[in-house]
Formats: sequence, C-alpha cells, structure tokens
Amino acid sequence: MITRMRCQMCQKRHGTSFTVPTEMWQAVMLEKYWWGEICLECFIAEADEKLVRWCEVIKIHSLSLVVHLERAGVLKKTVDHNIV
Ligand SMILES: [Zn+2]
Repeated sequence: MITRMRCQMCQKRHGTSFTVPTEMWQAVMLEKYWWGEICLECFIAEADEKLVRWCEVIKIHSLSLVVHLERAGVLKKTVDHNIV
C-alpha cells in the first residue's frame, strides 16, 4: 500500500517534515511522543500552548510522496516529472 507517514497525535497523513532542537522537542512534546511521528500542525499547537519560540529555529522540509517512497526503498528512482 502506498502511504505517507501518519501523525501519532491527529492520525492524519502529512507531506511536510520538520526539525527543531532536541531540547525544544522534549520541552514541547509529551515523552510518549518523543520518538514518534508528529505533524507540523500538531507540533505548532503544542508549542504555542506552551508559548515556545519555535519559529526562530524550526527547519521545514517538504516531501512529495514519490520521494518518500524512493527513500523508503519502496520505489526505484523514477523519472522526474517536475515542471520547472
Ligand atoms: Zn498531527
């Protein structure tokens, strides 16, 4: 089955990943989510609830489904259909 990663909080599939410093991640998220997949929207909601300045350090990475599947080894590298 072709799928994207699913957020462990809201259960939605998402195509945007992000990174924040470990200290911020652990301060914002409950420990049960520290090693889980969490979407950007859920992280922002949790961080804003705690008045964390996430915007100054967050790095956002968009990820199309085809690239996600290539990296996961599900698909071989395909022809690039991007129009530039
Ligand atoms: Zn979510």
